[in-house]
Amino acid sequence: MFERIELFPGVIEMNYQARRRLGCCVYLIHDGSDWLLIDIGYEDTVADIVEIIRQLDFPLANCRYLIATHADVDHVQGLSQASELLSGSQTCGHPDTARLLSEGDRVTTYAEISAQGISIEMPIVELDKTIGEGDRLPLGDVSLEVWHTPGHTVGQLAFRLGNLLFSGDNIYRDGCVGNIDAHHGSDIPSFIASLTRIRDSDIEWLLPSHGPPFRKEPALLQATIDRLEGYCHMADFGTCATDWPLMDEWDRELVQGFNPG
Ligand SMILES: [Zn+2]
Repeated sequence: MFERIELFPGVIEMNYQARRRLGCCVYLIHDGSDWLLIDIGYEDTVADIVEIIRQLDFPLANCRYLIATHADVDHVQGLSQASELLSGSQTCGHPDTARLLSEGDRVTTYAEISAQGISIEMPIVELDKTIGEGDRLPLGDVSLEVWHTPGHTVGQLAFRLGNLLFSGDNIYRDGCVGNIDAHHGSDIPSFIASLTRIRDSDIEWLLPSHGPPFRKEPALLQATIDRLEGYCHMADFGTCATDWPLMDEWDRELVQGFNPG
């Protein structure tokens, strides 16, 4: 048996529990005899994670939910395998996540990045349950409140438990955000709205999908929001940018002709 390492009461995270990096954050939340997992990570760590959970003395039959924060391969590749090992649980995620997983969309999930020679397995999964903004997932005597926080991807979810927000790929401790990419369905204005919502909430702790948990500091959120507002007007972000002011300047200057000055 292992000793449970709780980050917060009722919250265990598998990388911390293993004291080494397994992959994305895999949160186990428990209340009474019930427990759930937020994300599962890559397939090759599923067996280790399930074994750790067994050694922590959580009955495998009492897993209620296997939640996908979104459909990226590094978060959900192991979902099919985990749902076989934890057959009493319901797999759940946003309807957009459900669609990508059931269609086996390899591009949007990042299983296939052909320009970089990345091509990995992405098992097809039919989610048991779709969830969205305002839904509650009951667990023992508590419940997780579902927040729809699009931006990184259309189906990105976050989950509130008291003063904690399991915040997915919205923001990390260093102020970085989940990858912004047109092929991924990223939307910068939606991302800004999701970050603004988190900034203005009374959440005290953010538990992201990568890296350590951190206190929600409005200044960090604001610096990130300001950066993304800049991105909206930069060619660097291609079709994710909303405009490019240089083109307006150029329109005016074309009328006048080039003047090397
Ligand atoms: Zn991620």
